[in-house]
Amino acid sequence: MSPPLDRISSDDRLPEAADVVVIGAGIVGVCAAYELACKGRSVALLEKGLVGAEQSSRNWGWCRQQGRDRHEIPLARASLQRWEELQAETGSDLGFRRTGVLWVTKDSAELATWTRWAEFARGIQVHSQVLSATEVRALIPGTTEAWIGGLHTPSDGRAEPSMAAPAIAAAARRLGVTLHQGCAARGIETKAGRVDAVVTEKGRIRTQAVVLAGGAWSSLFCGRHGIPLPLAMVKATAFATAPAPEVWAGALGTPGTCIRRREDGGYTVALRGQGTVDLTPQDLRFARAFWPTWKQRRRGLKMRIGKPFLDGLRWSRGWSFDAVTPFEEMRVLDPAPDPDLVARGLAELRAAWPNLAEAEVAHAWGGSIDSTPDAVPVISAVPQMAGLVLAAGFSGHGFGIGPGAGRLAADLVCGDAPVVDPHPYRYARLFAGDRLAPAGAL
Ligand SMILES: Cc1cc2nc3c(=O)[nH]c(=O)nc-3n(C[C@H](O)[C@H](O)[C@H](O)COP(=O)(O)OP(=O)(O)OC[C@H]3O[C@@H](n4cnc5c(N)ncnc54)[C@H](O)[C@@H]3O)c2cc1C
Repeated sequence: MSPPLDRISSDDRLPEAADVVVIGAGIVGVCAAYELACKGRSVALLEKGLVGAEQSSRNWGWCRQQGRDRHEIPLARASLQRWEELQAETGSDLGFRRTGVLWVTKDSAELATWTRWAEFARGIQVHSQVLSATEVRALIPGTTEAWIGGLHTPSDGRAEPSMAAPAIAAAARRLGVTLHQGCAARGIETKAGRVDAVVTEKGRIRTQAVVLAGGAWSSLFCGRHGIPLPLAMVKATAFATAPAPEVWAGALGTPGTCIRRREDGGYTVALRGQGTVDLTPQDLRFARAFWPTWKQRRRGLKMRIGKPFLDGLRWSRGWSFDAVTPFEEMRVLDPAPDPDLVARGLAELRAAWPNLAEAEVAHAWGGSIDSTPDAVPVISAVPQMAGLVLAAGFSGHGFGIGPGAGRLAADLVCGDAPVVDPHPYRYARLFAGDRLAPAGAL
């Protein structure tokens, strides 16, 4: 079942030409389109299904610097600022609130890791606080658990996944971006190694520049053009409760569950670190690169071979731009939630919070996360095709950094001074023989 999502209108006519074509209208694609329009570029934004209908409406809604891989902290900081500005500039409520992120623990080794992270982060102006047991209790008096400490970043926040991408896409349209939903990009035509046009199911758009922000589909799309992009699909489950009393206004992680207060007065809830990798042929090809992260997360990750493997085999031979492509076969990737994870999540929530003992599940959903081997995204030009910028592989934490990622992709397209150093996000790191660090490395 899909989670709730605001709907917006599309443009009827595909333009014959655009300065930039953005493929994919999740949070990253809509932010890239918006920023490109702010820079005065004409933009066509293509979405095979509905704006925000895949990961960008299925996530927990956390917008955090806390605990991030050190490479991502500058982008996370820039994004939080951009969330605030976008809410003012677009005149739309994106549900963005600086309500803080809090993690709590009973494990002294975990607390020691957080202390090291907070010391490092302080050096780059992120003011996270390591909390004692008493300080945790003062923040969340309503829990039955005896936490030994926590990590708190008051400047972090949350935004509303059902509202954010559609509202930013609508604002982009007001700046002149044309939006085409139900319009898959079948592929890119090139001339002398440069982007020349994007072929869609509704016609062709001449262009010199493309941003590929296709989330879980990006690797398949790239593969058709001879551009290897190692992304593994991790299926996750989350659910929303019906409105319930407030126990914490922001996002809160315990060793068991992660909860986030929603604008509708409920919580988005998930079990921490649980997922299923639906193996594809390319995961086997890139297994060595993924191995350190899979090993580190093996307790929560299940591996299986099913339909995605067979689909991967079928489409790995490529497709014609004149016929139906995989993107038209599946308008919205809507994996089923795991009922066991929903039941366990609800039981943990009720047990930990007497005020939530009556909480009920309102909706449950699944989502497919596009993960790189080091869990850092690729926001980068590629050597195989001049004019193409990739913005993909957000590895389960791209909603919070969506605004910064969209801005960085737009900067790269326009050759402008980048909002943050793009080096950590370079495509070449995946192949240059660099030893990729495991996910979340300090
Ligand atoms: C359960 C879950 C919890 C998460 N929690 C958080 C969190 O709390 N905080 C956080 O920061 N991140 C979180 N994430 C991750 C976050 O949701 C993603 O990293 C982010 O939404 C990625 O945005 P995107 O725009 O790259 O991709 P998507 O939102 O997946 O958008 C890609 C779009 O491209 C379209 N598309 C693909 N191919 C084509 C094509 N050929 N033609 C046209 N359109 C195409 C797709 O239809 C899709 O709409 C979570 C993810 C999940 C699943």
